[in-house]
Amino acid sequence: MSFVSEFNSLPLAPLVEKSKAAAAAAVRESLSKSKLSLADFANLISPAAAEFLEQMGRRSHVMTQQRFGKVVRLFAPLYLSNECVNNCSYCGFSRDNPILRVTLSLEEMKREAEELKSQGFRNLLLVAGEHPKFVSNNYLRDCIAALHADWPSVSLEVGPMETEDYRPLVAAGADGLVVYQETYDRKIYSEMHTAGPKRNFDWRLETPERAYAAGFRRLGISPLYGLADWRFEALSVVAHADYLLRNCWKAAVTISLPRLRPCAGEFQPLTHMTDRDLAQLVCALRLMFPDVGLTLSTRESARLRDGLLPLGITMMSAGSHTEPGGYTGAGKEKLHQTVRGRIVELASGASEWAPQPDRATNATGQFNIADERSAGEVAELIRKLGYEPVWKDWDAALTA
Ligand code: SF4
Repeated sequence: MSFVSEFNSLPLAPLVEKSKAAAAAAVRESLSKSKLSLADFANLISPAAAEFLEQMGRRSHVMTQQRFGKVVRLFAPLYLSNECVNNCSYCGFSRDNPILRVTLSLEEMKREAEELKSQGFRNLLLVAGEHPKFVSNNYLRDCIAALHADWPSVSLEVGPMETEDYRPLVAAGADGLVVYQETYDRKIYSEMHTAGPKRNFDWRLETPERAYAAGFRRLGISPLYGLADWRFEALSVVAHADYLLRNCWKAAVTISLPRLRPCAGEFQPLTHMTDRDLAQLVCALRLMFPDVGLTLSTRESARLRDGLLPLGITMMSAGSHTEPGGYTGAGKEKLHQTVRGRIVELASGASEWAPQPDRATNATGQFNIADERSAGEVAELIRKLGYEPVWKDWDAALTA
């Protein structure tokens, strides 16, 4: 049995209604428990629980420090390619967006990694769109192998694969896999994914299990907030994490909290989640799962990230670029457009593609980031808040 069958039998719609109608007494009762059920979590993300946010924040803060210490782990995304065969309405890399694309060579990827290493990072997330012609499994394996000696922790956020295709990537040195379900609402999922293999909701939902079977020992999951009702998404990701904790127990599970950001294609969010909702969700997730890592990316503003950190965040990206070559300009001589899988060279001298002075490369990013501070500035702020920035997430040598 996979999470798909469990997910299909969950009473999610009634739980969302229960959450929206919860009374203060129900919130108090859930807060009094040491172990929470999905129904308790529904109470903690309810409008009524917003009145308890301060109390929840204090408990979440203490619990996080007890379980994780006063540390925040830092990681950097390294975008390998912005080619993609899928059309996802909310993503700048969508197949039909006429953007500037590139796939980094091994040497170019190493230049980007060197730059991130010089900034202090030792925990890398390799990101790529899904395009087997440009981002083959062998290419990914070679990238991981080239990084393995220097990077104690390499995770992947790439198109989902079969278990057998994941195994060589684990053998090459990848230890973590991040896969956002985007939305757990099947109807909205089918409306948002109009072309490409990503249309298969169940295949994506089972990805963390296939990755675990292949040997990945860190699994990151999340919805993308801004597509379906945020309470529905939060209840779904909690059920998903709970399943993974029970069935993939050798892996560390992390939950991210991404909200939609502006991107090429100019998609507008379908639903709204306020900053206060996000803070309430961080606290509720921590109370639900004392030991699960919570990740906050540069999608959120510096001010909000600084405020959310003490509530329960354990991992952050910093100084991020969401375009391939964004740290060093690597690959910028090869920028092109891709039409039906074929590279189309840019007309030389076209002013539309003139270099932009504030950016290393003109390749198009996946989305605009909100926290534009450098990695050093974020680390400094973490210290000022009384935490230790940790640049490494995992050391294979310690568990060998
Ligand atoms: S979300 Fe992922 S699969 Fe969809 S278009 Fe963007 S990169 Fe491609």
